Amino acid sequence: MKIAVVGTGYVGLVVGACFAETGNDVVCVDRDAAKVRMLGRGGIPIYEPGLEEIVRRNRREKRLTFTTKLPDAVRRADVVFIAVGTPTGEDGSADLKHVLGVAREIGRAMSRYTVVVDKSTVPAGTSELVADAIRRETRHPFSVVSNPEFLKQGAAVEDFLKPDRVVIGANDDRAAAIMRDLYRPFTRTGAPVMVMDCASAELCKYAANAMLATRISFMNEIANVCELYGADADKVRQAIGADRRIGSAFLFPGIGYGGSCFPKDVKAIIKFSRDKRYRFRVLEGVEAVNDAQKVRLLQKIDRHFGRSLKGRTFGVWGLSFKPRTDDMREAPAVPIIEGLLKRGAKVRAYDPEAKKVARSIFGNKIYYARHAYDAIKGADALLLVTEWNEFREPDFSRIKRALVKPVIFDGRNQYDPKQVRALGFTYYSIGRP
Ligand code: NAD
Repeated sequence: MKIAVVGTGYVGLVVGACFAETGNDVVCVDRDAAKVRMLGRGGIPIYEPGLEEIVRRNRREKRLTFTTKLPDAVRRADVVFIAVGTPTGEDGSADLKHVLGVAREIGRAMSRYTVVVDKSTVPAGTSELVADAIRRETRHPFSVVSNPEFLKQGAAVEDFLKPDRVVIGANDDRAAAIMRDLYRPFTRTGAPVMVMDCASAELCKYAANAMLATRISFMNEIANVCELYGADADKVRQAIGADRRIGSAFLFPGIGYGGSCFPKDVKAIIKFSRDKRYRFRVLEGVEAVNDAQKVRLLQKIDRHFGRSLKGRTFGVWGLSFKPRTDDMREAPAVPIIEGLLKRGAKVRAYDPEAKKVARSIFGNKIYYARHAYDAIKGADALLLVTEWNEFREPDFSRIKRALVKPVIFDGRNQYDPKQVRALGFTYYSIGRP
């Protein structure tokens, strides 16, 4: 099939590359000319494991090309995916200006029957707005499909190639059949293709993200209560996770969720529920808990050192919102580092992939370390913020030598409290005595 993907970000680039991988002819469109130039030269603008290889291979085989010219790409496409951002608007809603702007451009460029697929995360009812926007611009027949994306950054290629399920919102059989064909190579192993109405498909994505965010905030509150009673959140987690009704995934307490999706999607669902005079109380709580949890390490630091941190230095391990990505959107590292700077401290930070992104946020306000141990050289404490693999089994004697005093604030419960204390560290983690 001939496919155009509009928006070549974390989602669009993965979607485009993976559809090219199964033999389709894919054009990725982005209005960011620098990004398109870089991709055209064989570069990759983001860090995502496995993506570079798959983009290179399909570029070489001429199944994957990049352009800024939406009309050229749309004119020859059977299926056009919209994968542009839906950022939080001023009132908390999902801002649809990019999605609807692209829909209008697609309508103007279409030259025959086209399936327009919304992959961006959008509120229920958006497919009708997309259809209206296209209809105003064209006389050609078209179908609008909602096909929410469930990939996780850090494992995006793997998730797309082997999905748990594919959700397709379609109001007509012709478009649903085309979508089934397109996804067949990825669902051969038995992953279900769930075809439903567009509004339900649109809500699936919000419900999934809201549920996952709820598990995280719930577990963080359990951890906070564990701290009050000297209980161990790790033990509680294992015990409840063994219950098959609950399951063990996504139950790790920490310093809150971040990224471009959970915070934005939780806000959006609260807002579009409120628009219909429904107050989503559970998610209001989820959001409030997360905001507080992001600065929990700072509170522990305040308690240990006192509120003024003038003259102190902190070594931060991990900046991205989670491991295996360079994305720092809504990352807990941001309010933590800002809090340290505000209290007069100096920050030395290390992240395997997010250094460039961090520089665009903090400029020269912090020191960017060359490696993990460089970040803690002469520091008053180590802060573990993102649990990259390389931080899991560190050389504790090297940490001890590098720090002024052996203090660790572990926001991701990576180390065994007994073991690190036996090595002479003062050790703080989340929800563990
Ligand atoms: P992103 O910001 O990484 O990428 C969006 C891209 O769209 C950018 O490259 C931007 O230049 C481009 N763009 C914006 N307006 C355009 C226009 N008018 N014409 C052409 N290109 C345009 O965003 P993302 O993380 O890929 O997310 C895209 C959508 O997918 C969002 O709705 C998001 O909620 C959803 N989603 C994201 C993830 C994720 O893990 N990042 C997972 C599932 C769903």
